Amino acid sequence: MAVAGDFSSLEESAAPLFDCQSCGACCSYSAEWPRFSTEDDAQLDRIPAKYVSADEAGMRCDGTRCSALAGEVGKSTACGIYEVRPDVCRACMPGGDDCLMARKAHGLPTL
Ligand code: SF4
Ligand code: SF4
Repeated sequence: MAVAGDFSSLEESAAPLFDCQSCGACCSYSAEWPRFSTEDDAQLDRIPAKYVSADEAGMRCDGTRCSALAGEVGKSTACGIYEVRPDVCRACMPGGDDCLMARKAHGLPTL
């Protein structure tokens, strides 16, 4: 994902096809996806409140899109809280099942 200002890139993959910086599909797949799970209070405290959902159970989303995602899905995107992103975001690996499901939903190549 393109780096701009305070935005840092997501995971870079070995295969260009699964380049997170030109994707962002998993970050805009479902409002139920970027939920908090195994984080401790110290981790959660580092996520800016403006990006946290009203019920404080996950990231605030606009529709299916995480509010921390910048850019255009499938072209150039970046996570605005990359260093402190939730564990579910760290677990989604380029080319993995969740990744492929999200990419398919956005009509992006999966092979
Ligand atoms: S869907 Fe896959 S390639 Fe796209 S941003 Fe997520 S992990 Fe990266
Ligand atoms: S916190 Fe970052 S990595 Fe996680 S869904 Fe939102 S934009 Fe994507």
